Amino acid sequence: MLPRREVFPHVIEMNYQARQRLGCSVYLIHDANEWMLIDIGFEDTAEEIIDIIRQMNFSLADCKYLVATHADVDHIQGLKRAKELLPQAQTVGHPECRRLLAEGDRIVTYAEISAEKISINLPTIKIDQTIDEGDVLKIGGLSIQVWNTPGHTPSQLSFRLGNLLFSGDNIYRDGCVGNIDAHHGSDLPAFVKSLERIRDTDVEWLLPSHGPIFRKNRAMLQKTIDRLTEYQHMADFGTCAVDWPLLEQWEDELVQGFDPDKA
Ligand SMILES: [Zn+2]
Repeated sequence: MLPRREVFPHVIEMNYQARQRLGCSVYLIHDANEWMLIDIGFEDTAEEIIDIIRQMNFSLADCKYLVATHADVDHIQGLKRAKELLPQAQTVGHPECRRLLAEGDRIVTYAEISAEKISINLPTIKIDQTIDEGDVLKIGGLSIQVWNTPGHTPSQLSFRLGNLLFSGDNIYRDGCVGNIDAHHGSDLPAFVKSLERIRDTDVEWLLPSHGPIFRKNRAMLQKTIDRLTEYQHMADFGTCAVDWPLLEQWEDELVQGFDPDKA
């Protein structure tokens, strides 16, 4: 039997548990025999992760939910295999996540990024039950509140358990955020709103989907919000920018004529 290395009461993170990097963060929440997983990661580590869980003396029959934080392949590719090993568990995710996985959308899920020569297997994954803002998942006596925090992608969910927020790809310990890409359904104004919500909540800890767990820091979140707010008006952000003020300045200049003193 393996000792359980809880990061917080009722919470085990499988990379921390294994003391090595397996992939995205995989959170196990448990109480009174019941347990659930937030994400499972890639297919080739799913079996190993579930084997570690078994060795920690969790009954595989007591897994209630296999949660997808969103439909990105690095978070959900192993769901099909996990469901085979944990057939009584319900796979749950946002309605948009269910649609993308049912349709096997290879672009939005990042299974296919031709510019980076990435082309990986996306198994057909069925989400048994959709969850969205305001829903509550029950594990033993625990209540886990579902938040929809769009921006990285419309289906991005976060989960609140007491003073913990499982914050998905919203923000990482270094102030970076999940990929911003129109082909992925990213939306900058929505991202800013999600980060403001996280900034203003009274949770103490953020448990992200990549990298280390960290204490919520209002100043750091504000810095990231300011950066993303600026991105909204920067042409560098292409189809994710909402406007480009320089174009308006240029139009005025075209009317008035070029003035070297103002250039
Ligand atoms: Zn991710």
